[in-house]
Amino acid sequence: MKIEFLGGVKTVTGSCFLVHDADFTIMVDCGMFQGTNDIRERNYIQQNFIPKKIDALLLTHAHIDHSGLIPKLIKNGFYGNIYATKATVDLCSIMLPDSGHIQEMDVKYANKKNLKLGRVPLEPLYTIDDATESLKNFVPVSYDEIIQINPRVEVRFRDAGHILGSSFIEMWVDEGDHKTKIVFSGDIGPKDQAIICDPDVIEDADILLMESTYGDRLHKSKEETYNEFRDIILDSHNKKGNIIIPAFAIERTQEIIYTLAKLFRDGRIPDMPVYIDSPLAISATEIFKKNKDLFDEEMRKEFFYGNSLLEFPNLHYTRSTEESKWLNTDARGAIIISANGMCTAGRIKHHLKYNLYRPESSIIFVGYQAEGTLGRRLVDGAQQVRVYGADVSVKAKIYTLGGFSAHADRNGLLAWVKNIKNPKLKVFVIHGEEKSSESFAETLKAECGFSPYVPQWGETVDLTTMESAVASYAAVEAYSTLESDIELLSQSVKALIDKYNTVKNSTTAGDIRKIHEDIHDLRETMKMIIDEM
Ligand SMILES: [Zn+2]
Ligand SMILES: [Zn+2]
Repeated sequence: MKIEFLGGVKTVTGSCFLVHDADFTIMVDCGMFQGTNDIRERNYIQQNFIPKKIDALLLTHAHIDHSGLIPKLIKNGFYGNIYATKATVDLCSIMLPDSGHIQEMDVKYANKKNLKLGRVPLEPLYTIDDATESLKNFVPVSYDEIIQINPRVEVRFRDAGHILGSSFIEMWVDEGDHKTKIVFSGDIGPKDQAIICDPDVIEDADILLMESTYGDRLHKSKEETYNEFRDIILDSHNKKGNIIIPAFAIERTQEIIYTLAKLFRDGRIPDMPVYIDSPLAISATEIFKKNKDLFDEEMRKEFFYGNSLLEFPNLHYTRSTEESKWLNTDARGAIIISANGMCTAGRIKHHLKYNLYRPESSIIFVGYQAEGTLGRRLVDGAQQVRVYGADVSVKAKIYTLGGFSAHADRNGLLAWVKNIKNPKLKVFVIHGEEKSSESFAETLKAECGFSPYVPQWGETVDLTTMESAVASYAAVEAYSTLESDIELLSQSVKALIDKYNTVKNSTTAGDIRKIHEDIHDLRETMKMIIDEM
């Protein structure tokens, strides 16, 4: 039996793993790559597997970095079942079409430029229709239910406490004389996260694929986080600045609403308008209300006594673009929660454009910011950023509140793994930037005595012999002609200047205007290419 690491290794996005043996092929997660150009390019690379030969897909949770390439997989021929918890299916029914919409918009924007540059237009990764079509393959399952997905393979989804419906997956493979148990951690949530339950305890495993998003960091406590949150809100509100919170539509937005509801109820912040400016977050909140059975005890009690904590009088939902535009220009002293959480797309980018230059406003990051995203640049202290083609100075205060994270920190992850009492456990450390994965592997070695392995993108490991090979698609393509193209370009520019110097005294005013226009167009094209780099 072999496992192939198709994504979500040495990076946090693009989670995708293929388990195969002579008579079955099962995929776990099919996530989109997000972040730097290099990482995003992987969404377009044709990998070596054949989609129609995959028997089934198991989905740990609805986040796009785990589910975002499902419509592409189906477009390319996969027709099997996609097993996921009911809440995950509900959330995917809004997340995937929304992602299809983003793909269509991105390509539309890029193609405007491509048309001007005379390039071949791009095709979207998938469309809203592809995404809607893919929903037909989903099969909802319950937590803790054992499902036979192949004569040799049984699986069980357990609560990962990360977002609504999130799971880690246990897989038992019948090997004749014994069963091998593989566990896919998915994303593991912290203990005491608002609204949803804590992660289930994992008792045993032979092989573990373990996430390491925060494998090298610790979060502040919830109480410290809430106090800091209140202080930031008061500071900006008193100066009539806005408090902008880029938040993932699922879970982060609902936890922020819940926290604000409590702060208002306890009189710890004065009444002020709160806007949820993300149609996706509005739909996601409705799905939360439909899945009350997954709430933790505290939240269920609050609901029982009629306190939803997902609603309060000064909470406004803005669906229309007009309302959103009004917020951009007219809102003062307000809290605006908008998606997406890493500021790579969506209405949040407009709010940043209108608030980043205002020293009285605050931007509060409450979730993970992947390398290469606008959110990451702000968190890393950029003085100026480019938003929708405009350079914007960063004068607003930028905060990161790790205590709101939906991911367990290093100690949380370690405590979760320590429940497994198998000294021979084989651990693959995945879903983290390289530094974080390597650091967590070291921690596991020191604390548990395992010999964890950090696989690389495109690597296939034989689970019996632990021999591995790296697929050819992972090789970095060499741009051998680029250097000589650049050399030819600089020669052309020199020739252009020489030509101009020879003809400038002997040409008419009309000819000069024409040359001027041509050179202007050329400069614009070059500027566009430079901006794109
Ligand atoms: Zn996640
Ligand atoms: Zn993830």
